[in-house]
This record gives sequence, C-alpha cells and structure tokens, in this order.
Amino acid sequence: MNKINLTDLYKDKGCLSEYDPNSLTYQKAILYLEQLIEPIKKTKKVSIEDALGLILATDIKSSINVPNYDNSAMDGYVFRHQELKKNNNKVKLMGKILAGHPVDPKKIGSVCFKIMTGGMIPKGFDTVIPQELVKIDKDLVCFDFQPKKGANIRKAGEDISKNEIALKKGTYLNPLHIGLLASLGISEIKVFESLKVGFFSTGDEVVQLGEKIKPGQVYDSNRYLIKSFMHKMNLHFNDYGNLSDNKFKLEKQLETASKENDLIITTGGVSVGEADYMKEALSNIGKVLFWKMAIKPGRPMAFGKIKKSFYFGLPGNPVSAAVTFLQFVKPSIKLMMGNFQFESTPILEAKLGQKIIRKQGRTEFVRAYLQKTVKGYCVKPLNQQGSGMLKSMSDANCFILIAEKEDVLEKNTYVKVILFDGLI
Ligand code: AMP
Ligand code: MG
Repeated sequence: MNKINLTDLYKDKGCLSEYDPNSLTYQKAILYLEQLIEPIKKTKKVSIEDALGLILATDIKSSINVPNYDNSAMDGYVFRHQELKKNNNKVKLMGKILAGHPVDPKKIGSVCFKIMTGGMIPKGFDTVIPQELVKIDKDLVCFDFQPKKGANIRKAGEDISKNEIALKKGTYLNPLHIGLLASLGISEIKVFESLKVGFFSTGDEVVQLGEKIKPGQVYDSNRYLIKSFMHKMNLHFNDYGNLSDNKFKLEKQLETASKENDLIITTGGVSVGEADYMKEALSNIGKVLFWKMAIKPGRPMAFGKIKKSFYFGLPGNPVSAAVTFLQFVKPSIKLMMGNFQFESTPILEAKLGQKIIRKQGRTEFVRAYLQKTVKGYCVKPLNQQGSGMLKSMSDANCFILIAEKEDVLEKNTYVKVILFDGLI
C-alpha cells in the first residue's frame, strides 16, 4: 500500500465509506495509525533511573568491553593448558583468585590457582575447570581427563565489544535495557520527551468518587482506568475532569486541550446516541480521520486531529475504553514518543476449553481465562461479555482474539490468545 498522508485521507472517500455499515477493519485502523502518527521531535536527558517506559533518542554505543576482562565462569581452577600434558595432568596449587582481587602476573610460574566466578584470569592462563572435577593431592591439583583448552572462560567483550551499538534509537526502555545501560557504565541518556496528554471523561450521568451515587448515575471509572494505564507507561495526563454532554462546552474543552497537549483522550459520547457529541465537536474544530470500527467491544472510537494534537475519542463503556486504549492508543503513544514500530500485542495459541459461536463481521476480544492443566494450557471464555462489565475483565487474564470472518470455534481447537500480562 502506498504511504498515505493526512491531506489525502481527508479527501479519501474510501475511508469515509468504511464508517458504516462495514466500519474500518482492525488491521486497516492499525495501518492508518502507523502512517498518520507523527513522532514528537523534542528530546531530553534523563538519569537511567527515570528512563523506564521512555524511548531512546540516540543509538547507544559501548565505550567499553563487557566484560572488560577475561574472567572465570565457574568456581574452579585456572591453569595453562599446555602445563597439564607436561606434568602428567598434575599442576601445583599456588593460591587463590577472588572476584575483584586479580593476581599480579609477574609473580606467576607454571602453576594453578583456585579461582572464583568472576575472578580475573591471569595473563597467559587459558583454561578453567570446575572444582567438582578435580582431585586435590596435598598441593597438587590432579585431573583424570584432558580438559578442553579455553573452557569456562568468559572472554573480554563477548557480551558487548567496545564501539558496538548496544541499543538502537527508538527502543522502548524496559528493565533489561536499564540494566544493560548500567553494565556499560552509562548513567544518563537522551530520550524523547514524554508526551503531553490531556484527558477528560464525558457524560451527564458520570459522578466523581466521594460523591453519593444516585439512581441513573455511574462512578467515573474510566478516568482511573485510563490514568492507571498511563501510569504503567510512566506517563501522566493533564486531567480536565468530567464534562457534561454539552456540545459547546465539549468543543471548547477540546480546543483548550489541543493547545496544551500533543494528544487528547476522552471517553464517552462518541457513538450515535442523542447526547453523543464528540464526533461532531471534533469535526467542527478539527478533523475526523476515522470513526466506527469493526471490533468488539469498542466499535465507536474516533481518531482525529485538532490543530497539532492527535485525538482519540474512546467509547464510554469501560471495557470498550480499555480495549481501544490497549489496542490503539497505547501503541500510538509509543509511536508518538519515537518507538520504531507500532507494537502489536504478542499472540499465543492455546486449546479452547469450550465451543464459541458468534456473529461474523468484527474482530473480537473475548475476555477469557487461560489455565494450565495436565494436558497443557486451556483457555475458556468468561460468561459475562457485556462491554460495560469491568468485573469480568478484571477476572480475566487474557483475551481470545477472534478474526472477523470466524463464527464457530470448536472446543479443543487452537485459538489465538493475548495475555494480559505484558499487554496491560
Ligand atoms: P457513551 O459512550 O457516552 O454512550 O456511554 C456508554 C456507557 O458507558 C454508558 O452506560 C455510560 O454511563 C458509561 N460511561 C460513560 N462514561 C463513563 C465513565 N467515565 N466511567 C464509567 N462508565 C461510563
Ligand atoms: Mg455519554
């Protein structure tokens, strides 16, 4: 597919025609996001201790060898391989080498040292044998086999060599990357700036924690849900509170938020109900790039642009808000922050423990539980699948991913599973 740009998409009737009744497919929505999202350019320096969840803005080249000296991979004995044959597989024990306490090579003759893991290999020595495989006879270390030359030695630079690229620009930093940076002696790095994200929930019926709930009202779970997802990504949002279903107020708030943020997220009011104004508000002050997708849950989700900031209007139903956030917003945030690719969630296969019959036409994320049994892993859908039912989502540990065209999934066949661990 040719690369599309925003201007083309505004004119693209093909995209508009997918609004309804066929909606935009899951795959196509991802393709559009991949092409439309522009990464922010600003970078900053941070301590590696604050870099988790941020994205590297430069390649990281190692200025040292790791390890930076040849060292023992075992607790054992180190010697020159050629000495063994000469001395009938017996070498004299001269002392010991602990990690962090190298011996001075000048004082060393044709002998053997006890050496601990991480101990520096003395110059000219080339082989280590684990202590379990030798016999000690007074001051002699004796072998009843011929060890391989070079055994059990970790060579300088075998992990990373000097001047090698250890991490690439665009890496989304996880704890392993932070550990790797520390192993190179790097305490500060250049990352892309955190995104400025603005959020508000919408709905006349939505009330805040601390208020007494009346019939017809619902607590604002979406704010805490989205806030927590963001928190896990080491990001926070400018919180604009909850707005009532008032077209003019919504428009005004979107406009203000667009001046203060790179990305705006809202929940609710994005469907086709009488008080659903988000799409209209977006088209009045910005551009609707796509809306209404062939996914379940989460069909209505608006994506657009208001001035320089991108906008995701998520559905009000909490499970739909969660699914659309995880599938579209989270990877888009990473893209905006400089990640090199739209990260689709890893998919595993597991045996289905119960037949599923459903209507074709939408990519579906079925809340499910994956369990280890004597016969291997088995996944079962949970009973409650309503898009407002957050309890079943919090009871689940994975989604079963069902492709658009599938309608019957037989028991004991293999199905696609997205684990929450890693996704959330
Ligand atoms: P809407 O997308 O505005 O039509 O809302 C769909 C459903 O989600 C309705 O039942 C709302 O009451 C519910 N809802 C909307 N916003 C929130 C929120 N912030 N927290 C919890 N539920 C919400
Ligand atoms: Mg609403």
